[in-house]
Amino acid sequence: MLNQETSHPAQWWERTGNNDKVKCLLCPRGCVIAPERIGFCGVRKNIDGDLYSLSYGRPVALNVDPIEKKPLAEFMPGTTTFSLGTFGCNLSCSFCQNDSLARGSYSEAEFEHYVSPENIIELALRHKCKSVAFTYNEPTVFAEYAIDIAKLAHENNLKTVLVTNGYITPEAACDLYPLIDAANIDMKGFTPEFYATMTGSELQPVLHAIKYFYELKRHVEVTNLVIPERNDSDEMIENWLDWVEENMDKSIPLHFSAFHPAFKLLDVAKTPPDTLYHIRDVATKRGFTSVHLGNI
Ligand code: SF4
Repeated sequence: MLNQETSHPAQWWERTGNNDKVKCLLCPRGCVIAPERIGFCGVRKNIDGDLYSLSYGRPVALNVDPIEKKPLAEFMPGTTTFSLGTFGCNLSCSFCQNDSLARGSYSEAEFEHYVSPENIIELALRHKCKSVAFTYNEPTVFAEYAIDIAKLAHENNLKTVLVTNGYITPEAACDLYPLIDAANIDMKGFTPEFYATMTGSELQPVLHAIKYFYELKRHVEVTNLVIPERNDSDEMIENWLDWVEENMDKSIPLHFSAFHPAFKLLDVAKTPPDTLYHIRDVATKRGFTSVHLGNI
């Protein structure tokens, strides 16, 4: 079990209630957390009236990956990226493709091994990677750790990569996103109803995050996991492409990935390849120049 000595002070929070509760301001969920309780993401804990990160320095997945696997189609192709993830996620997608990390818990795993930001950079350099990637689970929930690693990465001529659901407050995004060189951000389904019923969150903050990252003039790609009869209608895809055209541009790399039955959505068939080919046709006919299909 982690204790105060092995937890890291969190950023982005304020005291509330009788000053013993804390409100986390890292993501739009805005959890109000009572003493000794943990926020929705499972990795931010109120200890004696202060908020702590339980995942700082405690990656549970470390790998050297091809950058294309993130997926990033047009950022330093042919290079490898040192990838890390922790436990925890701030969404509750019924179709989660990685629930062992998203819903994993440090107390259950009795995971005590500390990996400092300096250790991460040493490992990345030792494995001759060109970048460090925050990935696997949702990096927003370990933003303090990602920020410290990103600063050190740049001091060591390494690029930084973020693979995220984009569900973050503007305040926290302003601290994290400028330290990121390339991101793949999920857009999980282009209606507020889809986000509410299928992910337990909201579409608008995600669109804000995508646009903010684009306006920082960093490399951004966007992934839409296409689920049969949930988010694959022509209307929804066309509306999404309208938004990209109006808020970014038609050269943004767009990924459309096949869903495979997982977590609570085991009764939905995998996405037929023809659905993805059709979406690619629609996008390319509209003039989008970088459309990629995944998991086929
Ligand atoms: S980051 Fe975690 S604790 Fe903070 S508001 Fe989001 S879900 Fe809640």
